[in-house]
Amino acid sequence: MNTKIALSSSHISTNEINFVRDAFAKNQVTTSGDNIIGFEKNLEDYLGQDKKVACLSSGTAAIHLALVQLGVGLNDEVICQTFTFCGSANPIIYQGALPVFVDSDPDTWNICPIHLEEAIKDRLANGKKPKAIIIVHLYGMPCKAGQLIEVANKYQIPIVEDAAESFGSSYKGRKCGTFGTYSIISFNGNKIITTSGGGALVCNTKEDKNQTIFYATQARDRAPHYEHSKIGYNYRMSNISAGIGRGQMQVLDKHINLRRNVNEFYTKIFKSIKGVEIQKEPSKDYYSNFWLSCILIHEDAPFTKAQFQDAMHANNIETRPLWKPMHMQKVFKGFLYFGDQLSQTLFEKGICLPSGSNISLEDLNRIKTVIKSIC
Ligand SMILES: *Cc1c(COP(=O)(O)O)cnc(C)c1O
Repeated sequence: MNTKIALSSSHISTNEINFVRDAFAKNQVTTSGDNIIGFEKNLEDYLGQDKKVACLSSGTAAIHLALVQLGVGLNDEVICQTFTFCGSANPIIYQGALPVFVDSDPDTWNICPIHLEEAIKDRLANGKKPKAIIIVHLYGMPCKAGQLIEVANKYQIPIVEDAAESFGSSYKGRKCGTFGTYSIISFNGNKIITTSGGGALVCNTKEDKNQTIFYATQARDRAPHYEHSKIGYNYRMSNISAGIGRGQMQVLDKHINLRRNVNEFYTKIFKSIKGVEIQKEPSKDYYSNFWLSCILIHEDAPFTKAQFQDAMHANNIETRPLWKPMHMQKVFKGFLYFGDQLSQTLFEKGICLPSGSNISLEDLNRIKTVIKSIC
């Protein structure tokens, strides 16, 4: 049997272990220490825009703390891109709030500015002003940040930017993860860089960052004993994980280039196959880290989606359908939805291909051979 080619696996370099060793040497095996401070500084320097970063236990925890700090509570409405991973939407439910799902635009596959405004107008007409808008840069592709921010500003609704999959991507030269009132990054094991598991909340001010750390460490008030006036969470990143992150920051740009090369490899293959469309940057304004390379298999393709998946599977090559939209999920049944079901079409036609930065040329050629064999 051929060795497995994974969709996206962790890709560890040489220095991560040195930062982890340093934590052991200094007995900083906890949620504070030099690695956390160093990793947060790395992230702030990388993102720019004078942002302040708080490292947390996951990207989902980061979205949760963004909603907490925006005052999202029981029966509040929060707009969320429907075409996404459940981590974007679940924290709305944690807060007892109500998601309002909005569908995508065909250029970026991310939340459509026109449907967003429709949704806002409808909710305002019903006397329910949405408390926040969760936008996502799916698969690394930047959303239409300019137009979306314009709509959000027009109605004065804060943006929570889910950049879990798009660390290193940029829109008009500005890094994804810097467009929101709060923005989140994920360092889960399958993302472009990893801390084994982890995330970060990107904040506008030092005060917001400190408040985030306060909530992430059980909301302890200033007192000699444990005094609490707010409900807190145990969401801080471990100093061990942060050490992995510091090492990974040294190879982030390399990882982005490698993933972009993988995307280019696929682009060349599918150029000559009728009916197969690979996701691409809509214009020079969009720079994707191509976390995952994705294709749509149309009716006139030489193979069906099932045939494609079966052939890959038989050769121990992992593929995955695109995200099933949240408004189609059983757990989110009955919540409001605005759009034209584009995300449903993407889900039905789309496949994610192996895209890791550690995929070898040999692996890519194996994939190419399988694709050619079913054409
Ligand atoms: C991975 C991911 C998250 C959640 O990040 P975790 O660190 O796994 O909690 C949220 N949104 C999107 C779009 C993701 O891909």
